[in-house]
Amino acid sequence: MGTLAITNIGTIVSGDLKNPVRSGNTVLVRDGKIVAIGDTAILSGEALDKTVDAQGITLIPGLLDSHVHPVFGDFTPRQKMMDYIESSLHGGVTTMISAGEPHLPGRPKDPVGVKALAILASRSFRNARPGGVKVYAGALILEQGLQEADFAELKEAGVWLVGEIGLGSVRKPEDAAPMVAWAHKYGFKVAMHTGGTSIPGSSTVTADDVLAIKPDVVSHINGGTTAVAPAEVRKIIELSDFAIEVVQCGNPKAALQAVEILSERNELSRLIMGNDAPSGTGVIPLGMLRNLAFLVSVGSLDPAQAIAAATGNTARVFGLNTGIIEIGREADLVLVDAPMGSFGQDALEGLKAGDIPGVAMVIVDGEIKAGISRNTPPPTHKPVIK
Ligand SMILES: [Zn+2]
Repeated sequence: MGTLAITNIGTIVSGDLKNPVRSGNTVLVRDGKIVAIGDTAILSGEALDKTVDAQGITLIPGLLDSHVHPVFGDFTPRQKMMDYIESSLHGGVTTMISAGEPHLPGRPKDPVGVKALAILASRSFRNARPGGVKVYAGALILEQGLQEADFAELKEAGVWLVGEIGLGSVRKPEDAAPMVAWAHKYGFKVAMHTGGTSIPGSSTVTADDVLAIKPDVVSHINGGTTAVAPAEVRKIIELSDFAIEVVQCGNPKAALQAVEILSERNELSRLIMGNDAPSGTGVIPLGMLRNLAFLVSVGSLDPAQAIAAATGNTARVFGLNTGIIEIGREADLVLVDAPMGSFGQDALEGLKAGDIPGVAMVIVDGEIKAGISRNTPPPTHKPVIK
């Protein structure tokens, strides 16, 4: 895979909430992993296959969208659209995590069928990355009749996600809690729909349901699309330590409230972000960038902290070796700048002003997958490849 250097970086936003901005202007990547971060001295003696001169702009980790509803390949039957995953790559997303594949036409609802769907989706996306995006799919939808042995079998087959509880027929704590205990026993990460009913066939989930069922991730605490009441948002945050997800296709007021409570409690490490697309709201290729601009400009999040919530926090919650610019991590990286004409001088100031950044380059496992984005406004500075 070779050696890639990124030089002349203006700011390195690490994705690590504890140290959100790193010193240095150079990153060295070898065989898809970050091997050095510092100044140009780290390149001495290196035979470089490719160098990207960042022209002084900002490097961030590739964004992790924690809430996607894929089916197979780069097509969504929900909105009858092609290439939405590749389009999101142009919005800075390098990793997507499925919250379930409910949009498959004729989705099976018996134990054998839901297991088959989870195994097939997981393997299909493992073998083919649309646009280069790492899609972790095959999120089991909990249906009546699943037994402990089914979780053991799925684990063996490489499935490790439970899609948001509430999509299937298992909804109430007495049914779901034992299955979540089995899922955790076999190392699964479990998400749970929160709030009003999203699409016909799914269900309304309250704070008490979430607290009794004990998922790893409170999916869309701001609703997908209808949020729980403000007191319920507070109750979930105060009475649990679950990861708290806010999504683009949700209620913006509840998103701000959740982030404020997490900030007050000094618990921003629990915050993660997703799109909740494809969904009835549509497909939003710039949704992750819109989350950042909204929470930073209308809310009070610091831009580098917001980026950490959309990268390193999510990687930690799901146990993925990406999302932070540090030695040993997968080199999933994005160069971003203030968009042309922005009031801000760089990507971070632009976010404060409410502008989504211009994506100038997207790198996955050390390989350049996109140059100047076809979806964001153009960045003010354009990196040069040597
Ligand atoms: Zn949902």
